[in-house]
Amino acid sequence: MSGPAGTPGHVAENVASVRARIRAAGGDGVSLVAVTKTHGYDAVEQAFAAGCDAVGENYVQEMAGKFAGHVPAGPVHMIGAVQTNKVRRIAGLVSLWQTVDRPSVIDEIARRAAAGGCADILLQVNTTAEAAKSGCGEDEIDVLRGRAEAGGLRVLGLMTIGPTDGDPALTETSFRRLRRLCDAQGLGICSMGMSGDFELAVSCGSTMVRVGTAIFGERPPKR
Ligand SMILES: *Cc1c(COP(=O)(O)O)cnc(C)c1O
Repeated sequence: MSGPAGTPGHVAENVASVRARIRAAGGDGVSLVAVTKTHGYDAVEQAFAAGCDAVGENYVQEMAGKFAGHVPAGPVHMIGAVQTNKVRRIAGLVSLWQTVDRPSVIDEIARRAAAGGCADILLQVNTTAEAAKSGCGEDEIDVLRGRAEAGGLRVLGLMTIGPTDGDPALTETSFRRLRRLCDAQGLGICSMGMSGDFELAVSCGSTMVRVGTAIFGERPPKR
């Protein structure tokens, strides 16, 4: 299902190829978030130079170090699990919180937003019923959205991560579910699709894909 993995050192070409594959899957106007986790700040610069719409980072510590002393040329999205006590550390850097899935995190982001931080969030939904996966249940969306909006946050859309085993039928079910939920909520951003499944996500109605490996090559194994 996935295309060839990206070749490191050819970021602009890889981005062009990912864009072409998105268009071929029917995704005109889909935002491309380049996932720069584990890569240096040069990857961030290359991604923006190649016309990516945003970069995505997963780890607070890594992010804070990487961006220190830099002014990125475009938006930085938080796409990793957020702990409440770490929100503050990156609140000045993040322009979209993609993984909001519980009241404590909503309240902390709202507190930082009131102090001038970013107020734009996506609610992460667990569409796969895998217990280990983060994301709220479908039945929690209304309550979390209400709490976020009451706290002054803007809920711009929903985000999901497809099933870990990558079975295409299950992945499609999960993506179609998120698209339906976005429609039911009247929300514009439907963030789904990674290197291995972004074309399927686009064909299911994704408006924002998060792509790392197909742009920057394989990541080094986790320390
Ligand atoms: C790492 C990550 C991605 C990118 O994964 P690739 O398979 O390298 O494209 C996308 N979304 C999230 C939430 C991630 O953690």
